[in-house]
Order: sequence, then C-alpha cells, then structure tokens
Amino acid sequence: MSGYHGDVNLGETMDDCPNQRYDCVVIGAGLAGLYAAYLLRESFYSVCLVEARGRVGGRVCTWRDGLDAQHAELGPEFIDSNHTRVLGLAKQFDLRISTRPDFWGVSPTPPNPRAAYKAWRRFWDAVYEHARHIPEPACPWQVPETLQPLDRVSMYEWALRQGVWQSGEWFLRRYTRNMEATEPENVSFLSVAAQEAFYGEGVDAGIYRLVDGAETLPEALAHAFTAQGGDLLLEAPVQAIEQTEDAVRIHAMHAGKPCTLEARYAIVALPFPVLTQLEWTPPLSPQRRDALALAGKGAVVRTLIQFRTRFWRKQSPRAYPNQPEISALWEETDLQAGGMGILSFWVGGEPALRWGSLTPHERIDLCLQTLETMYPRCREEVLTAYSYDWQADPHAQHAYIYHAPGYLTRALPLLRQPEGRIAFAGDYLSMFVGYMEGALESGESAARWARARLG
Ligand SMILES: Cc1cc2nc3c(=O)[nH]c(=O)nc-3n(C[C@H](O)[C@H](O)[C@H](O)COP(=O)(O)OP(=O)(O)OC[C@H]3O[C@@H](n4cnc5c(N)ncnc54)[C@H](O)[C@@H]3O)c2cc1C
Repeated sequence: MSGYHGDVNLGETMDDCPNQRYDCVVIGAGLAGLYAAYLLRESFYSVCLVEARGRVGGRVCTWRDGLDAQHAELGPEFIDSNHTRVLGLAKQFDLRISTRPDFWGVSPTPPNPRAAYKAWRRFWDAVYEHARHIPEPACPWQVPETLQPLDRVSMYEWALRQGVWQSGEWFLRRYTRNMEATEPENVSFLSVAAQEAFYGEGVDAGIYRLVDGAETLPEALAHAFTAQGGDLLLEAPVQAIEQTEDAVRIHAMHAGKPCTLEARYAIVALPFPVLTQLEWTPPLSPQRRDALALAGKGAVVRTLIQFRTRFWRKQSPRAYPNQPEISALWEETDLQAGGMGILSFWVGGEPALRWGSLTPHERIDLCLQTLETMYPRCREEVLTAYSYDWQADPHAQHAYIYHAPGYLTRALPLLRQPEGRIAFAGDYLSMFVGYMEGALESGESAARWARARLG
C-alpha cells in the first residue's frame, strides 16, 4: 500500500511504477478523472489513474485534522437540485446527503438597499429575457448570430450601458465574487444568460450537502475503482505527454524516480492552468493554447475557524460584517454533533488575489476582526483555524473557472474536442461551470469517447 493519509480506505493503491500497456491512462484523480477511470474500469478496460497528490479528490478537500470529530470544507460544499450525477453517486455509494434546514449564515448589506435591489432585479430580468433566446442551452456556443456580440461584453459593460451599474454594483460584485470567483468586469454577459438557460426554472441552488464531508464522494469512487481492479498511482506528478500513431506515453515522477506509463488512449483530467505547463509531444495545438488563454482563473481564499461554542446561535449579531472583502460567512457544522462550531469566511475575486499575499495568520486575524464587529468577545472562543488560498495550490492554481468574454463561443467548443488519442475532462469543459457536477459530466463524456474507440 502506498502511504495514504488518515485511515480512509481507497482499496489497493500502487507502490511502484506499473510496467504494462493499458487501454487507457487517466491523468488527474479529481472527480473528472476518477469518474472517467471508474466508468472505463466498470466496462472491463485496463486503466491506470495517475495523480500528483498523495490523496484523491483534487479540489474536493475536507479539513478534519485536529477538529475533534468535526469537519469543514476547503473546497466544494453545496449541491444544486439538478446535480443529478453527484446526487446519484451519493445514493449509489450510500453517502449521507442532507438539505440545509438549519443553515446559519450572514451577508453584508448594501449601503443603499432599495436602489441596489431595484437595479439588481433589472439586471436579472434582462438575463432571463436573453436566456429565452438561447435555442440549445446544452450547446450555448450555437447561439444565433444576433446574440454572439453579447459574448464580447462583460457583466459590468452591459450593466453600465443599461444604467444599472451605479446602483447595482454592490450586488453584482458580491454575486461574481461568491459565484464566479472574480469581478463583473471579467465575466461574459452571454455566459450568465447561457447558464440561466441551461439551468432552467425550478432548480434549488445549493440546497444539499454531503453530511460526512465532500471528500467522501471522491474516496468512494476511488475505492470502487480499485476494488474493480483499476490501478491508482498516487504521488506521481505527470510532467510530459507524448503521442505516437498507436500509443500515448505518460512521463511522471514517482518516489523520486522517472516513471513512464503507456496506453492506447489517455484522458487528461487536469485543471486547465496546469495543461500548458506540461511538455507535449507533438505540441498542443496553437488553437487549444489560444482557447485556454480565454479561460478565467477564479480566485478564492477560504478561512475556517473552530470555536469552543456556537455563540452565534444564541446571540443576535451586534452589527453586520464591516469587512467588505469577506463576501459570505456561514456555519459549517450545523449538521454536525458537538458543542463546538466552525465558521467559514469566503473571500473571492480581486480581494482573494490580495489576500493571497497575506500570511494565513493575517487572514485569520482579518476574519476575526470582522466577526468582532458582530460578536465582540469571539476571540476568547477560538480553538483552531485554517486558511487556504487556492491560487497558491500548485496542482490547481485557481479555485474554479469563470467564463471571460469569448470563452463560451470561441474557446469552449474547441476545448471539448479530443486531440488524436487524447480526450480532455474537467469542470472547465462543462456548462455546470465550476461545479462537481461539471467535473463528473466531463469525465462521463471522456469515458464514452474512450469506450467508443477501444471497442
Ligand atoms: C473554494 C471552492 C469552492 C467550491 N465550491 C463548490 C460547491 O459549493 N459546489 C460544487 O459543486 N463545486 C464547487 N467547487 C468546484 C469543484 O471543486 C470543482 O468543480 C471540481 O472539484 C473540479 O474537479 P476536476 O476533476 O475537474 O478538477 P480537480 O479537482 O482540480 O482535479 C484535477 C486533479 O489533477 C491533479 N493534478 C494536477 N496536476 C497534475 C499533474 N501534473 N500530474 C498528475 N495529476 C495532477 C490534481 O492534484 C487533481 O487531483 C468549488 C471549488 C473551490 C476551489
């Protein structure tokens, strides 16, 4: 067994670089790669899944160490009612899912709420109106020519032209920082309308959570994959990918030594910022490189603080947070036992880029300063804290994608195409933008592609 942290049972992982030719090698054991590998192995193909980290799950990452049987999420947490793959797999693997009946959270309020709400509503009315004219919500890059210019306009530019920016800025910024991990200046207006069309009506956003931690999903997939005889190689960062007429060779480092894997096909399920840093033979096509340059690297810093008691449940806050850079604050432990409680502080977009240059200690202090305006004696209750900057994570280099102007119509259709014997997977290829569901959907379609070629 390789040295996997904790007592999680992933099944049999590999100690040595395997010496066999596989039907398919999958690179990256985030949800996209795990699901692709699992589906291919389920169809009895020989599959090796290679991962740089010493754990599976990638951006799905649950913090447990030192929390005395509690846990909190550093990455994804919420599941929408139309995330059918996530919900289906949770059911299949018997993972506990819960709605948020007793959810505690607060948000700052805008300085001029009435005008701000009005502008915000006008913005969304226009989004719904444009969404109605997108004929194929699942392939929104096929929008009619009349709508295509909207993919060259940012949310900010659109709001400015319609006269809703001045009053609406506060909400637009909070929305993009929470949902897109960037600023309204960077997000395509068409992409917001396209996502609205894709989601349709009647979806409950963010109502579910995996009760025992989001990482239980990737761990269950990894366990099922290895139990079926799939090979899982951890701590093996891939450095180069070489394609010939009849094979793909993957060059990684494992246990300090070079390790080469050979396969008939490969699925590259890496975060998009990592792709261009690998050595490709033949080189990645210039069109793909140009398309990747249009993908936006959403920035998030998450800070989690565990307190001795859940004082926020007993006292009303003295004032709402005055730290505008923290755009959301909520409790992680409402579904968990114990008297202690964990609060999650969300910083997204430009503020997250600034917070990246602070030390974790400074970030934790800023969060506590904010909380003190609501609960003056909160520092006395602190047990432990953790702050994570996703931009600084070498194997992710961003939190999740946002659709910059041009990405939807010019980049996405091209990026979804395979190159020779290699297919790509990852949440950046799905219309479930920046969601676990998007990662699973892309893994499923890459596995379908490989199955069709392997016969
Ligand atoms: C702060 C935050 C909050 C989020 N909130 C939500 C939410 O509430 N709900 C939701 O559904 N989604 C949310 N997401 C998004 C969700 O986490 C992602 O969409 C999903 O996990 C992406 O999966 P993936 O497999 O595409 O990529 P990843 O999880 O990034 O997987 C890629 C894998 O490739 C590995 N890798 C990288 N480089 C190499 C290399 N050279 N060699 C081998 N392996 C390599 C990585 O270690 C990783 O395991 C959030 C993400 C973040 C960061």
